[in-house]
Order: sequence, then structure tokens, then C-alpha cells
Amino acid sequence: MNRKDFLKLFTAIPFIPSVMTLNDLKNITDNFSATETMPVLFLGHGSPMNAIEENEYVKGFRSIAKTLPKVKAVICVSAHWYINSTKITAMPKPKTIHDFGGFPDALYKVQYPALGNPELAKETAAIIKKTTVGLDQDWGLDHGAWSVLKHLFPNADVPVLQLSIDYSKPASWHFELAKELSVLRNKGVLLVGSGNIVHNLYEVDFKRINENFGFDWAIEAREKINSFLLKGDLKSIVEYEKLGKALQMAAPTPDHFLPLIYMLGLKTEKDKTELFNDKLLAGSLSMTSVKFG
Ligand code: ZN
Repeated sequence: MNRKDFLKLFTAIPFIPSVMTLNDLKNITDNFSATETMPVLFLGHGSPMNAIEENEYVKGFRSIAKTLPKVKAVICVSAHWYINSTKITAMPKPKTIHDFGGFPDALYKVQYPALGNPELAKETAAIIKKTTVGLDQDWGLDHGAWSVLKHLFPNADVPVLQLSIDYSKPASWHFELAKELSVLRNKGVLLVGSGNIVHNLYEVDFKRINENFGFDWAIEAREKINSFLLKGDLKSIVEYEKLGKALQMAAPTPDHFLPLIYMLGLKTEKDKTELFNDKLLAGSLSMTSVKFG
């Protein structure tokens, strides 16, 4: 799709969210049009090798893609853009970043040439009131984004933006910030969190890297979070650091857990919750992914 066609998709009546003021609406240009409410996805991305391997997880990503309405653009919150501020990629052509080491050449050759959308970046920055959002020209698409999006949109024909995670802020702050993005769900924008609910690289059993098993604490952490997800108890998940030893082991650092918190902030009462790729892997990882909506 060329830029003109893309912009055409965004022309029509602006959607008026109840929490926004008229002033806010001036910031949402006519480039956005009302659509049916888009679902929200959290994708467990696991190893970067999922970008080029054929396995049950990539099949899961493809299957969920088939359930989506027409997507005009993706905004991805990736565990791998974890910095000291909130930024959004604002370049027209984001580069493919190979932000890992020690993998086969084939993985470094992968390019994911999805376009950006500077207009949407500006509009998104404008609707976020909780902080100042930087318009980034340097980042691009890290593997948290492209290794999974390549299975959802194999033709790279949907523009992709990334929103960074500010590591200086608590989970509750990210949860609140995400709420401000909910207006985008009615503009054909698919919001995607890419991380892992259970992600402890120190404990990975590399001898059994492709085996579906979890250590006791990983089993417990998965069960707890899945149960809160299915009950709709978002508060307990936002306060995951209070959930004890199992969660401390599952999320020893917040980077891979916080993309889930963003997606929780976007969930409404009306949204259904569907888990997929819900497997433990190599002892201390989970591939659990979630669709809300
Ligand atoms: Zn990762």
C-alpha cells in the first residue's frame, strides 16, 4: 500500500472517545477513521529463532492473525526497547534491528521492511498526556517486534511503529499510560505487546531448549497469571511483584513482563480473553500469548 492509499484509509469521521475533551480531539487529525474495535494482542516471542523456524508457536501467530479485522497499522510495545523515557518510532522506513548475538547467519539476514507512519507517530504522541513522548528517528524494529509480526503480516504490508518502555516507571504507571492509547483501537490500529510472562534467562535449561516443561516456580507463575487473566483480575497482575517467589523468578526484571501490562491497560470489560501458545519451555520460559477482544 502506498502512502496515499494509507492516508485514504484514515479519512472520515473522527471517533469520539468518552474520556477525551474537545481539545484533545484537535490532536486526532482527520487522517484517522472510525473502525470496529480492534482486538489487543500480547505475544510471547521467546527465542529470536522463532522468526525463521517452523514450529507450533509461529503456527499460533498465523492462526491468530486470521481472526483479526483489517489492520491499518501496528503499534508494538516490545520488551527490547527498554529505555529511560517514552518514545515512539517516527521514521517513514524503520530499519530491521538484529539486537541479539550468537545466532545463525540466516537470522541476521532477515529483513522486515514494514513502513513506519510518521503521522500516526505524531498523533499517538499527542494523545498521551501522562508523559512527553519523544518522536524517535534512530530505533527501528527490534526482534521483539519483527520476529513475531513477520508471522502475522508476512508481506510486511502493514505499517509498524514501536513504543518504548520507560524503565524508570512502575507497572501501574505503564498500565495507566496504556489506557490513553485505547482510542487507537477504534482507528484500525492493532496494539501488540511483545514479551514473555515467564522469562528467566539465568535458569534456562539449554540442553532441553525446545522441550515443553517448566520448573515448579514457572508452573506456579503461569497458573497464577493465567487464572487472573481468565478471571479478569487485572489489578493482581499489575501488582505482580506482590505475588511472591514464583513471580519473582518468572520476571526477575520487568522488561518482558511490562508489554503484558500495556495490553491489560487497553482491555475493556467487553473484551473476551483468549490464551494461545500457552506452553512452558526449557524450564524457565513461557510462550503464553493473549488476545483481548
Ligand atoms: Zn525477548
